[in-house]
Amino acid sequence: MTSNGNPDSRLSQRDKIRSPADRNNTFRLGVCLILWCCHVLLGTPLTTQNVVIVIIDGARYSETFGDTNRTYIPVMDNLALEGTYLEHFYNDSFTYTSRALPALWCGTWTGVRDTLYEGVATKYAVQPTLFEYFRRQTGAPAEKCYYVLKYITSLWLPSFHSQYGPQYWPTYHSVGSTDVDVLGQALWVMDNYHPQLLWIYLADVDGAGHSGDWSRYTSAIQTADSIVGVIWDALQNDPFYADQTTMFVTNDHGRHDDQHGGFSGHGDGCDGCRHIMFLAVGLHVRQNQLATQVRCIPDMAVTAADLLGVDPEYATGEVMEEMFVPIEVQPSYDHTVPPRFILYTNYPNTFNPHTTIRYELPEEGLIQLAVFDMVGREIVRLMDGYSAPGSYQLAWNGRNQAGLEVPSGLYLARLNLPGNTRTIKMVLLR
Ligand SMILES: [Zn+2]
Ligand SMILES: [Zn+2]
Repeated sequence: MTSNGNPDSRLSQRDKIRSPADRNNTFRLGVCLILWCCHVLLGTPLTTQNVVIVIIDGARYSETFGDTNRTYIPVMDNLALEGTYLEHFYNDSFTYTSRALPALWCGTWTGVRDTLYEGVATKYAVQPTLFEYFRRQTGAPAEKCYYVLKYITSLWLPSFHSQYGPQYWPTYHSVGSTDVDVLGQALWVMDNYHPQLLWIYLADVDGAGHSGDWSRYTSAIQTADSIVGVIWDALQNDPFYADQTTMFVTNDHGRHDDQHGGFSGHGDGCDGCRHIMFLAVGLHVRQNQLATQVRCIPDMAVTAADLLGVDPEYATGEVMEEMFVPIEVQPSYDHTVPPRFILYTNYPNTFNPHTTIRYELPEEGLIQLAVFDMVGREIVRLMDGYSAPGSYQLAWNGRNQAGLEVPSGLYLARLNLPGNTRTIKMVLLR
């Protein structure tokens, strides 16, 4: 994966995408489209975006998405209609914060080591973190990468890895004493710095859980739920973030189930401690989807890195592709040749597993583009909606509607405009 230059130039490119009529910027648009086309070929989501990650420490799945009534998370329940939540997301190793949080940062279960940092005894992660990958590979300055949490005397630190390390750490903003304070600080940071990678750590649910007071614990979850809603609304109301941002909400660990001592503690690796929530909402995230694939903590940072266009080279997790729409559709801005109704041969063909499909629409209309197998079953619908005339291209990632890989074979892509159909054959060879 390539780096993307400094974020300010990226922002201006993004603005250009929004106003294609601006003829004075044809060259920059061209550059932008070329970058975009490279992305289509790679089949990954666009990199011109922001990622906001909210960690709710120690909320048990049975009080979040595992509760069918969503008693304590009405806001995230609503948000899930706009996004994807995972039914099987797990802490697959140490079910306590000092190891799970670094694994969330690093995209792998990293060792942690004791150190004395600025006179304070603390620990650091052995492997580089998402923050370090992002800052080193994109050249983003410290204020484009923020970590907001309430005040604690000693931070757990990112890595001192020889290729990464302190010069690529995030800007820590550790102020206040409650999750609500953290919300206020996060909004302030967003307003003032517009970080492209923003990590928000909410600690109160775990603290309340340890108190053994059920109503305090559940009300801390309700507060965290409201905070997630306020953050999301703020993102949508800020032109820097609106429609250009993906938000993840998850936990570092759950809490004991009732057979293992109940909600007041955690750390034995029972299902209550392991099973955690994962909600994704935003750019390219499938809407109103429950994803059933089994995923684990290391997959989060790797997925976030993919969205940011960076390579988490020491991470072991996987990109959770099932959360994202398998397509990138953008009209081409070259209208010098009037479009005809054409479905071009996909490129490449044969492919593994990504291929690009181009088509032209001479008139506006309701179009469908779907992939079928040779017995006529629809595998995935890549486009279904009203389109303006123009040239389009999109990518298929060799996955079906549920986000699962389909086997090698011959597939048909069929473009349908009312009264008009075009079909091409595509060979997937894994
Ligand atoms: Zn705890
Ligand atoms: Zn447990």
